[in-house]
Amino acid sequence: MSPIKTQTVGYPRIGPRREMKRALEAYWKGNLGEAELIDALHGVEDSAWESQLEAGIDLIGVGDSTLYDHVLDWSARFGIVPERFDGLQGLDQYFAMARGLPGVPALELTKWFDTNYHYLVPEIEPSLVPAAHFDGFIETVARAQAKLGPRAVPIVLGPVTLIKLAKSAQGFGEFLDQLLPLYVQLLGSLKGLNVPEVQLHEPALVLQGASQLSAHFGDAYRALSQAEVPINLVTYFDDLGDALPMAASLPAQTLTLDFTQGDQLGRLREGDWPSGKTLAAGVISGRNIWRIHAQSVLGTLEALESVTPDLRASLSCSLQFVPVTVAAETALPEPLRDVLAFADEKLGELALVGKAHKGENQSELRALEARWNRFADFAPPDPAVRSRAEALKADDFHRVSDYAERRIQQIQLPLLPTTTIGSFPQTTEIRRLRAQLRNGELTPEAYEDKVDAWIAYTIGVQEGLGLDVLVHGEFERSDMVEYFAQKMTGFAFTEHGWVQSYGSRYVRPPIIYADVRRPKAMTVREFERAQAFTSKPVKGMLTGPVTILNWSFPRVDLPSREIALQLALALRDEIADLEQAGARVIQVDEPALREGLPFKSDRWQGYLDWAVDSFKLATGGAQDATQIHTHMCYAEFGDILEAIDGLNADVISIENARSDDETVRELAEYDYGREVGPGVYDVHSPVVADRQQVIDKLRMYLRHMPPERIWVNPDCGLKTRGWTEVIPSLAHVMEAVEVVRAEAETNRPAESARVDRR
Ligand code: GLN
Ligand code: ZN
Repeated sequence: MSPIKTQTVGYPRIGPRREMKRALEAYWKGNLGEAELIDALHGVEDSAWESQLEAGIDLIGVGDSTLYDHVLDWSARFGIVPERFDGLQGLDQYFAMARGLPGVPALELTKWFDTNYHYLVPEIEPSLVPAAHFDGFIETVARAQAKLGPRAVPIVLGPVTLIKLAKSAQGFGEFLDQLLPLYVQLLGSLKGLNVPEVQLHEPALVLQGASQLSAHFGDAYRALSQAEVPINLVTYFDDLGDALPMAASLPAQTLTLDFTQGDQLGRLREGDWPSGKTLAAGVISGRNIWRIHAQSVLGTLEALESVTPDLRASLSCSLQFVPVTVAAETALPEPLRDVLAFADEKLGELALVGKAHKGENQSELRALEARWNRFADFAPPDPAVRSRAEALKADDFHRVSDYAERRIQQIQLPLLPTTTIGSFPQTTEIRRLRAQLRNGELTPEAYEDKVDAWIAYTIGVQEGLGLDVLVHGEFERSDMVEYFAQKMTGFAFTEHGWVQSYGSRYVRPPIIYADVRRPKAMTVREFERAQAFTSKPVKGMLTGPVTILNWSFPRVDLPSREIALQLALALRDEIADLEQAGARVIQVDEPALREGLPFKSDRWQGYLDWAVDSFKLATGGAQDATQIHTHMCYAEFGDILEAIDGLNADVISIENARSDDETVRELAEYDYGREVGPGVYDVHSPVVADRQQVIDKLRMYLRHMPPERIWVNPDCGLKTRGWTEVIPSLAHVMEAVEVVRAEAETNRPAESARVDRR
């Protein structure tokens, strides 16, 4: 076998000990100067470069470090700055774009492809003329070269992806034409530094319909090749589908493809690889947190050698989606820790694969397999869970009766019933209670008492406002996934396993490492407390199987469907317990349902089948008289209406406050026959909801759906808001409902006035 080089395409930007977060927050508070902030950034870059150098990586991606977000960095470097930030300069302008200022909204934040990272959406205004601000980037690359020498490879966000991700008021081609000379200038400067190549990241190539961008890709890469610096066109997160021949024909010396998601190998075997082009194969996942099975990775590389001899081994994508190192996780049981690989461990594996491909390091490969064998003994299948999953019947996925029949047995409420999505303000005071519980300052009993006091207060507030279906407020939950994960078997938690969500916000996703079971009730205590304080119905509140799965690091030895069904069975038992405790309304949140949708539409059905099945398994055991709610946060439902309908939830509340009546209109056109709670105000804004605006929204919704089928609620949970915003906002909602209810009642034809009121 021939020698094989290794490459990385990005590394965590947060620092091994969350150095960036600390520096940024101190800077924003005014406790750290600009020079010290930049020092912190340089420190994080240095440690990233050192780790990759020590691991022996041949071509090390550099320049992906950031103070907030790499897409924002490229907007700033190309002068893509909306006019509202014109008066500002330097870091003031940069952070204003990221975080907004009073009266100056920030750029929009949205998910980076199918990851849980959020980037800032570039805004290309009608008269914007881009301009080059490359000094900082060039200086970073030069500093990297001082450490890494010829191994340093600059990472640049590609022009087509940059425009594709932007909100643009200019034509694609027109703006690309303006941008390309600047890109050529940038590549020229990098050539001047004698870099071996430049990585141009074009993940837009994995999107459905990427081949329709072929003219733009052609224009762009023909222009860029004029700079005469070798180009590595980097793609990730999926195979390229039918865009592969186009991508392979672009003038780039190297093409990086992801072999850990989708079916890249199959696609590749169908066509011819252009001779002389290097294939950098992303064979080690930058997304999961597991060690490799070396034989399967080496097998892929071997198969690729028959496609082209010009082969390189790569991470599948940037390592920013995994924590820095397993070494810090001393509290995890050893057999589990031994099969985990975060960024630094993945670097070691990449180097190992590079050498093993040449036939070296056989003993290390065997040691890796031994770790997996030990883990198999440590986390065997749970017989109770497996036999229950095997015994599932079609009936388990269905409610007893169809909607019309069960609706009459369910709770009767006024027209336009009012509720909230679940959480009430998670104040610092409440977070402090959890810290005190952790460090022993509060006994578990004292902690529960304090939580109960908040529940009592929240029930009182809702009663005072006159809401119809109340919630307990979710004060006991640190996070809607972590809370449930901590109460089930099969989950592990890291101490330092942070990954960036956006800016200085990091999350520590739980790890699903074994079969999932619910040893005892998870939410009944708080439900009972809340219900004891009121005669109004309190909603049981659960996180759905798809969301728990999508917001964790899942195991990779079981298909997603199996993991989701195990989660669903645990939730099914919880619903039964809540019913026992007297719950008549139970909400199962699935905010992550839409975001888990694969890029290519021919794979949607496969995903939606298990996603919908797991929700139906979780809720299918509910009694007819139990009203099942679900909640989703994504406004673009148009393309998955059938799946939404398939959930068969009695009520669905959806984030809709920022968009117009689109979702309700689509549901009405689809002939959606159950109840819907389209949000009436935006909880993500600190502005207090306005009575008239809520009235207008409700009247708009009522143009599409009858008042018997509309619920009134904010568009998401209230945990990020303060009480001084929440109480007046809900009060205005209640005033608006009074007005619109009266209108709806007078307008109602007599024969449909059959909802019994209490
Ligand atoms: N019940 C959760 C809450 O109110 C739902 C959160 C979400 O949709 N992301 O916080
Ligand atoms: Zn939500």
